[in-house]
Amino acid sequence: MKVAKVEVFPLYVPLEKPVDAPISVPHAEEIQHIVFGGYRATIVRVTSDDGVVGYGECMTRLAPAALKKIIEEITPLVIGTNPLQPEATWEVLYATMMNRGHNRGFYIEAISGIDIALWDLRAKIYGQPLYMFLGGRQRDLIPSYASSLRMREKSVVLETARNFLAQGFKAMKIKLGKHPDQYMADLRLVEDIRKEVGDDVILTVDANCGYHEDYKLALRVGRGLEANGIYWFEEPISPDNLYGYKYLCDHLDMAIAWGESSFTRYDFANMFTEHAVDIVQPNPCRVGGLTEISKIAGMSQAMHIPYAPHTGSCSAICLAVSLHIATALPNLLTFEVMRSDWSKEQRNPLRHDILLEPYDNFENGFLRAPAPDKPGIGIDINEEILTRYSVC
Ligand SMILES: [Mg+2]
Repeated sequence: MKVAKVEVFPLYVPLEKPVDAPISVPHAEEIQHIVFGGYRATIVRVTSDDGVVGYGECMTRLAPAALKKIIEEITPLVIGTNPLQPEATWEVLYATMMNRGHNRGFYIEAISGIDIALWDLRAKIYGQPLYMFLGGRQRDLIPSYASSLRMREKSVVLETARNFLAQGFKAMKIKLGKHPDQYMADLRLVEDIRKEVGDDVILTVDANCGYHEDYKLALRVGRGLEANGIYWFEEPISPDNLYGYKYLCDHLDMAIAWGESSFTRYDFANMFTEHAVDIVQPNPCRVGGLTEISKIAGMSQAMHIPYAPHTGSCSAICLAVSLHIATALPNLLTFEVMRSDWSKEQRNPLRHDILLEPYDNFENGFLRAPAPDKPGIGIDINEEILTRYSVC
């Protein structure tokens, strides 16, 4: 049995009406209409020589056509390989560019899509759901939280929080940090949200690296968040600042969560051995695929670090894959259910329409684990979306 075909679908859905940056990345106002100018995803489809098909996704924040080009150039390394050993193929793909400065970024995101598609293919060949290859079915119900309360007007934020409660969420995440010098206003908003939802709801906060290089400011904000019983402080500073993360872990009682901006087992090995993370949040479509997720998950278990999958700004394929990860991990903490698009007016078809049957079956605090009788990821792709939004 061999891999016979690799296809790539670079997808882009431009936003009809530009939006302000919905998260607090540094230089948000300068970059917002580029980075947040549309919804993107790059989908990979692999086919075996006897016609079995696997799907994967590359995290795509910019230039889906670039990801397509990279994948096309390394496709000869995948064609003819045994689909039962995606880990062996990963090593070859990684070695191709590892010593050329491409051990992060677009290249690893490209490998991620191929790797996930190969894992899907292998599971389908064996006729087993994907989670069986990640450790098996640890649970039927997956504890979940709503993502996210975005940085909009206070009345809109509080109304969204009430909506999340009405939908049955018992935990939700707040975005902040867009204007670091106005952190007191952010802390007042957190206080207002806490009053609105009550003490029994778990609140977390995500700064999307908004405090950038200023880990002392992040510490000050963190102390204000602790006063409002915030459970975790996500990505307070740049992912390059390992020392800053260790400092925050050492100086705050609340958990420091990060990992969505990191790549491969090697980034995570450094985070764990430096004790610079309390809750780990890798994304399979960025980190290098399921080959890397399985190794990061193993390390996190050994280090007693809870695991909370990152699913933001991906298509529903990533969400479905992440559900398998969440089903299998002994140290799963909670699952990120995406309930707010970048634009309030324009829904994201890559999240809501790319699967014929939606993955999101949230009810009363939990998602249901994937069905045991569906092999692989267990999704059916809406081919029309692949065609309609493909950029080349
Ligand atoms: Mg985040």
